[in-house]
Amino acid sequence: MLKNDQLEAWDRENFFHPSTHLAEFARGNLPHRVITGGKGCHITDREGNRLLDAFAGLYCVNVGYGQQEIAEAIATQARELAYYHAYVGHGTEASITLSKMILDRAPDHMSKVYFGQSGSDANETNVKLIWYYNNILGRPEKKKIISRWRGYHGSGLVTGSLTGLELFHKKFDLPLAQVIHTEAPYYFRRPKQDMSEEAFAAHCAAELEELIQREGPETIAAFIGEPVLGTGGIVPPPAGYWEAIQEVLARHDILLVADEVVTGFGRLGTMFGSDHYGLKPDLITIAKGLTSAYAPLSGSIVSDKMWKVLEQGTDENGPIGHGWTYSAHPIGAAAGVANLKLLDEQKLVENAGTVGAYLNKVMAEAVGEHAHVGEVRGEGMLCAVEFVKDAETRELFDASEKVGPGIAAALLERGVIGRAMPQGDILGFAPPFCLTQAEADEIAAKTAEAVKQVL
Ligand code: PLP
Repeated sequence: MLKNDQLEAWDRENFFHPSTHLAEFARGNLPHRVITGGKGCHITDREGNRLLDAFAGLYCVNVGYGQQEIAEAIATQARELAYYHAYVGHGTEASITLSKMILDRAPDHMSKVYFGQSGSDANETNVKLIWYYNNILGRPEKKKIISRWRGYHGSGLVTGSLTGLELFHKKFDLPLAQVIHTEAPYYFRRPKQDMSEEAFAAHCAAELEELIQREGPETIAAFIGEPVLGTGGIVPPPAGYWEAIQEVLARHDILLVADEVVTGFGRLGTMFGSDHYGLKPDLITIAKGLTSAYAPLSGSIVSDKMWKVLEQGTDENGPIGHGWTYSAHPIGAAAGVANLKLLDEQKLVENAGTVGAYLNKVMAEAVGEHAHVGEVRGEGMLCAVEFVKDAETRELFDASEKVGPGIAAALLERGVIGRAMPQGDILGFAPPFCLTQAEADEIAAKTAEAVKQVL
C-alpha cells in the first residue's frame, strides 16, 4: 500500500477534482480525503474514521454500501461479457431485462428506455429527442426549453444551461440561448409573507405563462423540472404547484421532462416523484438510484406519445443518429437489475418513506427552534435545514461567512456527513434508504450540536 504522504502528493499534483476550489486544493487548504470502504450507511476513510454518510455519496447510494448481491452481479457480468454495444438492435440479457423492469415500475404511459451513463448525458439526450420530435412534427421553431432557477440538471453545455445555479454558469458562457429560466417554487422565499402555498403555486404558474407569452408559445418546446428541487436546496414544491404548471404546459403543447435523477426509484417513498405529485411527463430522466451508483448508468424514459413520432422520424430519415459507446453498458445494466431487485426484497422504498418522515420530524425537533434556523423541510428521504441571519425577516448571512460549509464541517468532526448545498446556507441530508431510526436520531442530535457550535 502507498504511504499516505505519497498518495496525498500525487493527489494534489495530478488529480483534477470536480466541483472543487482548485487553487485551495493545490495549496493544501482543502482536505485530501481517501475513502476506502463502506457498509450500510457508513463509509470508512484511510485513517480508519467511520462516518455516517447522511448524503449517500451524492444522493445516489440508495441501497446503502456493501450490498454483496450487486457486487456479485457486476463480477459475474464482467467475467461473462464485460462489454458489447447496443447499436442496431444488440443487447444483453441484463440490458433487456432492466428495460422491462424500469417500464414495469414507471407510470403507465411510458413506453421505452434509452440508456446513457450519467444524469447529464441523459438530459442531453432528452433535449435532442425533443428537438428531433418537433422537427419531425414540422415545427422547427418550437425549440426553447424552460427550466427553473435553482434547478439542477447536469454540467454539460445544454444541461449546465438548464441548471439554474450561478456557480454552474459563471465564466462558462452559459446558459445557451435556447434555454430560459422561470421562478423556482421556493415557498420559503415567496414574494409576500402572507401568501398561502396555493397562492404561491398560482403565482409561479402565472410567471410561467407570462414567460411563454413573452417568448411566443410557438417557440417553447419543453419544460424541465425535478419533482423536488435537489441541489438547488432540497425544496419540495408548494401545494398545487405541479397541477398548476401542468395546466399551463398542456395549454401550449409544451412537453414536460421530469428530472428524476434524485427522486427516481424511491427517494420520496414512492417509486417515482411523478407518482408522488401526479406528474404526467413526456420524458423521465433517471440515473443515480437506477444502480445505487454501484456502476454508472442513466436513462431517458420516453412516453408513448413521443415514441410514435420518433419511429415516424426514422421511417422518414433513417436510423436515429444518437448513441454512446457505453449506452446500456452490460455492467451498469447488471448492477441495475440487482439493485432494483434489492429495493423490492429489502422493502427499501417503504423504508425511505417511513424513516425519511421520521428524520424530518426529529430534525425539526432538534434544530427547528434555533434563532438562526429559518426552515426545516423535506420529503421522503430528503431533508434540509436552511440557516438565516434573522428568522423573522429571512435575511441571509453574508456568503463570506460560509455558515453552511462551517456547519457541515462541524458535523463532519462529529462523524456525520451532510452537504452544504451550493447556493445559500442550506445543509442537506439524503441518506441511504436503509437508514434506521437510531441513525436518524444520531444525525439530528449531532446536527443540533454542530449548529450550536457555529451559531
Ligand atoms: N439531474 C439531477 C436532478 C441531478 O441531481 C443530477 C446530479 O446531481 C443530474 C441531473 C446530473 O447527473 P450526473 O451528475 O450523473 O451527470
